[in-house]
Amino acid sequence: MKVRYISDLESLEQLSEEERRRLAPVADRYAFRLNDYYARLINWSDPNDPIRRLVIPQSEELVAWGDLDASGEVDYTPVRGCQHKYSDTALLLVNEVCGAYCRYCFRKRLFMNDNDDASMDYSKGLAYIAEHEEITNVLLTGGDPLILSTRRLGQIFSDVSAVPHVRIIRIGTKMVAFNPFRVLDDPELLSLIREYCEGGTQIYLMNHFDHPRELTPQAREALRLLLEAGAQIVNQCPIIRGVNDRPQILGTLFRELSFEGCPPYYVFQGRPTAGNKPYEVPIVEGWRIFIEANRHISGLAKRARFVMSHHTGKLEICGIDGRYIYFRYHRAHRPEDYGRMLITLRDDQAYWLDQLTVVSGPASAIKAAAHFNPHG
Ligand code: SF4
Repeated sequence: MKVRYISDLESLEQLSEEERRRLAPVADRYAFRLNDYYARLINWSDPNDPIRRLVIPQSEELVAWGDLDASGEVDYTPVRGCQHKYSDTALLLVNEVCGAYCRYCFRKRLFMNDNDDASMDYSKGLAYIAEHEEITNVLLTGGDPLILSTRRLGQIFSDVSAVPHVRIIRIGTKMVAFNPFRVLDDPELLSLIREYCEGGTQIYLMNHFDHPRELTPQAREALRLLLEAGAQIVNQCPIIRGVNDRPQILGTLFRELSFEGCPPYYVFQGRPTAGNKPYEVPIVEGWRIFIEANRHISGLAKRARFVMSHHTGKLEICGIDGRYIYFRYHRAHRPEDYGRMLITLRDDQAYWLDQLTVVSGPASAIKAAAHFNPHG
């Protein structure tokens, strides 16, 4: 099915004229993009519809808050378009467009005109990966790699898999949610995935479903075809205010994903990214939602870790009591920090580690905490 893209609020007739006028400055600041398939999932008569919140600008996005690069990705960018933070995994930012734009995106800087973090020419990133034998996983991201043509993706697969130490290619994508016809209508994409899986390079689709209503019959069928082609599929999503910040919604999402063979992998604490204030949920509240969501589902549905992608590493939020929040380094930039506990005083208003008082943990995290100003 041909899906039509909408990148201009003016042409979104489901919004009133007043809404279009009021939201135009927001879309000028933080790019807007939608498509007619996803627009049909929205209940337009409900101003608080969760699918609507996911893609339609909110005036509150203009509130001063956070940073465009909230977890310092620039510090882990050895060459343009390539990030290397954890020894075995490198990111190639191969594209700067998505099937629609999530309002809470932590990489929205990519969609701004004056940004060049992503690169269509990935040759320098590829050379960097080839020189680093410790890199066994390459995550194609951006933007959404599945926006690229299958021919282009085939070229990237071929180049990346030619590096002998790369064993896994991951694709970070929300296309199955935003436009499942990208998969349903392209048998060549499925053949490409099958070819590489059978050839010994594992292809992982890191899907991004935020709400159970995104799991339409078409999206479920696309997941089934991807599995049939040999891809491994998992899901990762943040907890987003007004979208999935209710345990019943998040639990249903986890359960339904497990029924589709797409286990939840990470649930993220939202990064304090510029423009994201209306979508943020404090850590303590997010933890309660996450625990409650997992309460009545099977072990297979509750495989996600609740993590914060902090500048110093990926911190799992392991527990909270009356006084403290307990984190553990699930991934760490400094190898010596891996597995270490980090304990902070509890603050129910805090959104990010750097707003908390660290009482025990690696010096690097304590230092990072001293330099943060979410309103700066
Ligand atoms: S699909 Fe991912 S990269 Fe694209 S807008 Fe959404 S969160 Fe950002």
